[in-house]
Amino acid sequence: MKMLHPLFTPEHEAFRASVRRFVEAELAPNAEEWEREGHFPDWVFKRMGDLGFLGVRYSADYGGQGGDWGHAIVVGEELARAGSGGVGMAVAVQAEMATPPILKFGSPEQKARYLVPAIRGEKIACLGISEPNAGSDVANIQTVARADGDGFVINGRKTFITNGARADFCVLVTRTDRQAGHEGFSLFLVDRDAPGFDVSRTLDKLGMRSSDTAELVLDEVRVPREALLGPEGRGFVEIMWELQGERLIGAAGSVAGAWLVFERTLQHAKDRHAFGRAIGSFQVNRHRFAQMATELEAARQLVYDTAVAWERGEYPVKEISVVKLYAGVVVNRVMNECLQLFGGMGYATQTGIDRAWRDARLLRIGGGTDEIMREVISKAMGF
Ligand SMILES: Cc1cc2nc3c(=O)[nH]c(=O)nc-3n(C[C@H](O)[C@H](O)[C@H](O)COP(=O)(O)OP(=O)(O)OC[C@H]3O[C@@H](n4cnc5c(N)ncnc54)[C@H](O)[C@@H]3O)c2cc1C
Repeated sequence: MKMLHPLFTPEHEAFRASVRRFVEAELAPNAEEWEREGHFPDWVFKRMGDLGFLGVRYSADYGGQGGDWGHAIVVGEELARAGSGGVGMAVAVQAEMATPPILKFGSPEQKARYLVPAIRGEKIACLGISEPNAGSDVANIQTVARADGDGFVINGRKTFITNGARADFCVLVTRTDRQAGHEGFSLFLVDRDAPGFDVSRTLDKLGMRSSDTAELVLDEVRVPREALLGPEGRGFVEIMWELQGERLIGAAGSVAGAWLVFERTLQHAKDRHAFGRAIGSFQVNRHRFAQMATELEAARQLVYDTAVAWERGEYPVKEISVVKLYAGVVVNRVMNECLQLFGGMGYATQTGIDRAWRDARLLRIGGGTDEIMREVISKAMGF
């Protein structure tokens, strides 16, 4: 029997079973179609909201389930079973990336207007950090919110924004004071229908194909002062905090996806014969499986241990960077090995191994690249 990590109780496992039932019955059968179309329908958000899967860590005051990081990790892991990484990513943006800052920094009015409908799946959220000239270098963001009368006027461009083409609102990172360095950033809640706020295009991409990835333009977008999320000037600190949860959830989902591919490949290696024996029985391949299982298990335990620390109120920035870096490297190595073990069937599109391989590549880039994780880790060492 699988060891139950201290992050989880039997109640979490019962919850896991219910998420799994939903994913396997209502999402997975559509994966092929959604991948082909490069889009999954909005009803997924509404349905997940109705089932209580979009606000597992949020209090019942906002329509959430009052759960913990264990529940959030369960949702992230089980969504990997949808077979289309873009779905899990888009849902994670909604539930674990764009909305946590509203819970932590939002006013009661902002929570009522954005958080509650997002938890119900009635409003779709996106998170606008990256810009054409500011990805890794978040501090170089050029989108400006200028104080004007009793509100602000925002100008700028955002790129690579997941859910950006269909979001009802955006948690937007801006600069409100160019001279103030890291103290000059502010977050805003901007409605999609605000005049001057447009989707300039959606980007085609290697993987995560069922999610939309948009470029956004803000041209003289006027917002009231109440659109400011958290105190003016605190946006950099707030978004660095958000990125920690994003990295942890991203790693959890990707590691779970790699386990699924590993298990399929293991079965394939037992069933597929060459030179009169199962391909998995060659020592070189048996050892490959042993190595992959070891590294994947280490990545999974790192995710869980770090989630426990986060859950008890620590702010484990270095550990989360270690998790994301390690998980990204291991998951991609495993996907590559599994594709190799499937041979031509891995390279062909009918097994879905190719898709998992493509989807996995994002973990080493999105939410902070491997290199940026190494920067954070080495800074914590005093460099
Ligand atoms: C599918 C997808 C979805 C995304 N979703 C969102 C989203 O919803 N919201 C959002 O805001 N962003 C989103 N992103 C953006 C993502 O977070 C960025 O792509 C990522 O942070 C890297 O930034 P960049 O693409 O500008 O790369 P760059 O910053 O241009 O980096 C290019 C290369 O230079 C390296 N590099 C940069 N600085 C250093 C350094 N100091 N030392 C060594 N190497 C360095 C990088 O590691 C990388 O290898 C998404 C991206 C993708 C691809």
